[in-house]
Amino acid sequence: MKKIKTFYSLKQVCHKMDSSFSKSPLKPYLLMKKIKEKNYDKYFDIEENFEPIKKEDFLIAHTEEYVNNVFNKKGNYVTNGLPWSKELVKSLHYTTGSLLAAKRWAIEHPEELCFAPVSGMHHAKPHSGSGYCTFSGQVISAIKIYEETGLSGAYLDLDCHYGNSIQDTYNFNPLLEKAIPKGFNINPSGYNETYIEDFKYKLELLKKEILKNKIHYVVFAHGADSHNEDDLGGKVDTKHWIKAAEVFANWVNDVSDDLGKSLPVIMCLFGGYRSDNYDFVLDLHITSLLTCKKIIYNNEFSKSIK
Ligand SMILES: [Zn+2]
Repeated sequence: MKKIKTFYSLKQVCHKMDSSFSKSPLKPYLLMKKIKEKNYDKYFDIEENFEPIKKEDFLIAHTEEYVNNVFNKKGNYVTNGLPWSKELVKSLHYTTGSLLAAKRWAIEHPEELCFAPVSGMHHAKPHSGSGYCTFSGQVISAIKIYEETGLSGAYLDLDCHYGNSIQDTYNFNPLLEKAIPKGFNINPSGYNETYIEDFKYKLELLKKEILKNKIHYVVFAHGADSHNEDDLGGKVDTKHWIKAAEVFANWVNDVSDDLGKSLPVIMCLFGGYRSDNYDFVLDLHITSLLTCKKIIYNNEFSKSIK
């Protein structure tokens, strides 16, 4: 059985969250625990020995002053809105490391669907953190991939909130225009049916650029806060939230058919906040992952998740 190649280590988790509203640094742990409890771990091939990124790698997307502030609990270290701890800082090497390892694997093995259980990176800015995000893991991993392989990626960011990290870093590091070309941080807009239509339209435009060899891999960040019962979000109901995963997965198959080879795909988590029912957030993420797996691998996985 083909599994989802997953880059997950306990080192990417931070347990010292006090009473933080955001559970993002703990989410990888809660999600993987739930996957195990539901006996879905058989669908995931977990690689835990991936390399963390180095402290100097954060300078790809951030000023030395801000990076030092985060490491030394000085100045604007708290602009991410999260409680500071040594454990949090340590975990940041592994969250971006997970995404980078998943990208490398997907590019080398495009026939394998890859998963980096990460969130908390798409609002960070060159000079500060923002919105529960400390460092721009998307930007850092994309530029490292571009430097290693010359390949460019697109983000399908279905978090309810615009991922400003990419836009905000073009001036700071011009290599980003190669790593994630302008216009390829894609966020659907609208509600329910119009949201799905807008997503399909944007995927068609992206497909043209992939077939022109301008984009070589895609990251699907199916943030659960785009669900309309989320504390911080609200664009689509459950049916349309899952529909977005189906649309994406069918599109991947369509693009791969036209390419004559598998399109490298990396999935990750991004937002999702339900103070009344965090399990709902985790269930949405699991449903999206297994929906993509089922369609892209064309398996007969048929269990619906409540
Ligand atoms: Zn969000």
